[in-house]
Amino acid sequence: MSNIKRIGVLTSGGDAPGMNAAVRAVARTCIHHNVECLGIKRGYNGLISGDIMPLDNSNVSGIMRLGGTILFTARCDEFTTKEGQEKAKATCKYLGLDALIVIGGDGTFRGAQAVSELGVGAIGIPATIDNDIACSNYTIGFDSACNTAVECIDKLRDTMLSHERCSVVEVMGRHAGHLALYVAIACGATAVLVPEYDTDIDNSIIERIRRSRIGGRTHFVIIVAEGAACGAHALSEKINESLGIEPKVTILGHIQRGGAPTARDRVTASRLGQYAVNLALEGKLGRVVAMNSGELFDYDINEALSMTKGLRESLYDNMNVVSW
Ligand code: ATP
Repeated sequence: MSNIKRIGVLTSGGDAPGMNAAVRAVARTCIHHNVECLGIKRGYNGLISGDIMPLDNSNVSGIMRLGGTILFTARCDEFTTKEGQEKAKATCKYLGLDALIVIGGDGTFRGAQAVSELGVGAIGIPATIDNDIACSNYTIGFDSACNTAVECIDKLRDTMLSHERCSVVEVMGRHAGHLALYVAIACGATAVLVPEYDTDIDNSIIERIRRSRIGGRTHFVIIVAEGAACGAHALSEKINESLGIEPKVTILGHIQRGGAPTARDRVTASRLGQYAVNLALEGKLGRVVAMNSGELFDYDINEALSMTKGLRESLYDNMNVVSW
């Protein structure tokens, strides 16, 4: 018999398609085990103020296919202070929470680490379109965001092709280039610029466009990760100076965070949500759940936050060889 009788769940940081599916999985697994589930609104803000909604079968029904998060999400500066964390701890005590499940990115996990140190047992579920959680190959929302970006760029390509233009497209990802690299491969971009590699613009980007032009191509799509050293506008100017073509800049922006989650994100969220609750029921708190090669794992939260994740070199190589 588990001592866990009431679990809180929140979504925090940037929203990601599939967060609702994770909330639903947490709630449904709690219901399955006769455990009460409280939704905490607006990330750590709700944990400080006690802004909650009890989750039951009816209010998590039908949410899996929805983008965004029914619990709302936010960034909360107060929670990064000791005072804020003490207030959150007091709220957890007042609400009678035996465990807290947080759905978000590495910032959200640092919050979970902080409350765990104060004695509130927390478990993190990785959900961010950036796919930049080191302990997990995959984060909820990444596939949906890739598909949204690819759909937009396919549309852009139609008009680029008709007008024989060059397009420089900025893709999200914060400090990581996972999204940009996947999107670049999936839409057959001429070149990609990511923060992880020190790219020589002349020898790689400009040269690739030149080579592609000699090969007969008359339109070019260049993908730039938002965290890359050279931004989309600066890169566009360099292309213009070097090649005399005037690229159009498109910043895809927050549209990449929206829309219905893909089947992959729904299934991943459903599995990770159930796994997180099961861990809590076993009394394994202060952990992060992860998906690696399709299998579920969990790591101590301190260990998870000390790991680093680079770009997969074979993907970068694939982009450079196959995509023009
Ligand atoms: P995304 O990858 O989508 O940006 P994230 O979870 O990394 O998601 P952040 O804005 O970095 O997003 O963090 C979310 C929230 O987690 C912050 O607003 C803050 O409340 C909390 N948080 C972040 N870092 C810390 C920290 N060092 N200590 C305590 N809380 C933190």
